[in-house]
Amino acid sequence: MQNCLDEVVLSAYYDRELPGAEQEQVAEHLASCAACQRRLESYRILAEGAAVEVDGAGLARAVRLRLAGQRPLLWRWAVAFGAALALIVGGYLYHTEATLAAEREALLHQQLGATWEPL
Ligand SMILES: [Zn+2]
Repeated sequence: MQNCLDEVVLSAYYDRELPGAEQEQVAEHLASCAACQRRLESYRILAEGAAVEVDGAGLARAVRLRLAGQRPLLWRWAVAFGAALALIVGGYLYHTEATLAAEREALLHQQLGATWEPL
């Protein structure tokens, strides 16, 4: 679109610093120009982002909300991972324990030979 608003005019419009007539002209242009609407929207997003950074409590709250939103998924993964790990470790330990017990018993039988019989 021709005669697009320049940065100075658009940011002045955003800050409502333009004289009434100019403000109306800009509003008219914006009504028919998607490109300038997007630029104005980007000012709004930037301004809100800056406001969040300045407002530490707001940022902390935003971070907490984001973390809270992610926690259920992470939690499920942690539980699934923990269960799988417990199964693997438990299975390994059980197997090792059973093998060691069998080996110990075999060794005991060997050492005692025929002189020892289970009661
Ligand atoms: Zn424009």
